[in-house]
Amino acid sequence: MNSEEQSAYTNLNPETALALDLADELQSFRTQFHLPPKPDGTPQIYFCGNSLGLQPRKTHTYVEQELEDWARLGVEGHFHARHPWMPYHEFLTEQTARLVGALPSEVVNMNHLTVNLHLLMVSFYRPVKGRSAILIEKGAFPSDRYAVESQIRFHGYNPETELLELAPRAGEICLRQEDILDYISKHGDKIALVLMGGVNYYTGQLFPLQKITEAGHAKGMMVGFDLAHAAGNALLELHNWEVDFAAWCTYKYLNGGPGGVGGVFIHQKHHTRTDLPRFAGWWGQNKESRFRMGPEFDPIPTAEGWQLSNAPVLSMAALRASLEIFDQAGMTSLRNKSRLMTSYLEYLIQERNKTSEKKVEIITPSDPEARGAQLSLRAGGTEGKKVFDQLLAAGIIADWRYPDVIRVAPTPLYNTFQEVYRFSELLFLFL
Ligand SMILES: *Cc1c(COP(=O)(O)O)cnc(C)c1O
Repeated sequence: MNSEEQSAYTNLNPETALALDLADELQSFRTQFHLPPKPDGTPQIYFCGNSLGLQPRKTHTYVEQELEDWARLGVEGHFHARHPWMPYHEFLTEQTARLVGALPSEVVNMNHLTVNLHLLMVSFYRPVKGRSAILIEKGAFPSDRYAVESQIRFHGYNPETELLELAPRAGEICLRQEDILDYISKHGDKIALVLMGGVNYYTGQLFPLQKITEAGHAKGMMVGFDLAHAAGNALLELHNWEVDFAAWCTYKYLNGGPGGVGGVFIHQKHHTRTDLPRFAGWWGQNKESRFRMGPEFDPIPTAEGWQLSNAPVLSMAALRASLEIFDQAGMTSLRNKSRLMTSYLEYLIQERNKTSEKKVEIITPSDPEARGAQLSLRAGGTEGKKVFDQLLAAGIIADWRYPDVIRVAPTPLYNTFQEVYRFSELLFLFL
């Protein structure tokens, strides 16, 4: 925690939460979102932006514009819509690149997250005899585990030996940085690919992505990340860190709407490699020759060359609305506010623990560098679900994860310090 974070709050006084809100330079962004209301019309406290981000107010206009242009122009909309559909994904490129620290040529929005992980593994998981393992973190999101396991089988290898899961030390919940790096250097020779989450969805731990990439490359393996919980949450520099590839969804912190189009990053150094196989489709074809409809595949020499199908315009219109907001706010400012909010929540819980008979355990790392917005809490022991249900009834939208974790993610675009304060009050009331 830096000194600014430490000095911003040193008491349990609700006036402090108010003062933090008044000093918050990003507070006006809240008005750009629809806040789901309670039955009485007042907003619920929404701490679930890590699961489904809220709807920007202008999303409606952006999607409606495409519906209007479709009604007005039919097929001509591909060229004459106000935002022509043919190159629609290009309207998202610059903002997406800034969001993840990439060159514009390194990112593209397409498909969905798990689909993209598979497509990227086609290119970047190249098992050979003696080096055929994939390393993931134990407790990875189930879809990622299924994807990785099925890729190993697809290549004719056995997941029982080739799927390596990094587990925390006995009695610990999060992985220690030195253990991750040690494991990679000790077992690196047999690992073909590291594919870890950026932020673990359950514990909220943010992994040291740059160090993992360096350690992996030192041992000659490919390094990719699932950034579902990191995009729009953590500061990322994928290009400078030389990450080989990454994929993320856009409906969590990025507010792109349910089932929104996914995002991918492919490092520049791989764009023109002819030794990497890929699954091809017409939208990855060189734009000059695409509509000549010829038989030869000549891929676009950027991340766009991995596209298969034409752009899902309605879903991209929704994402465009949200990415503009991210661009206005800036990831650095958002991350600064996010660190402060999450540290404030941690502080309030720790302070209340001091005088409460029943305690709340925070399983997310306390180092702000090792977490994003989310704190994962154990509250109420075996009665944890009851605590969660009471919070829900009181208008707090958090997220329950079996068997005993409440995930709360105050997000810097639309949450307030007063909401964080109110949550801490109710949490201890219901313990
Ligand atoms: C949310 C999430 C997914 C969801 O995958 P979809 O393909 O978008 O349904 C996958 N992996 C991780 C780590 C996630 O957090």
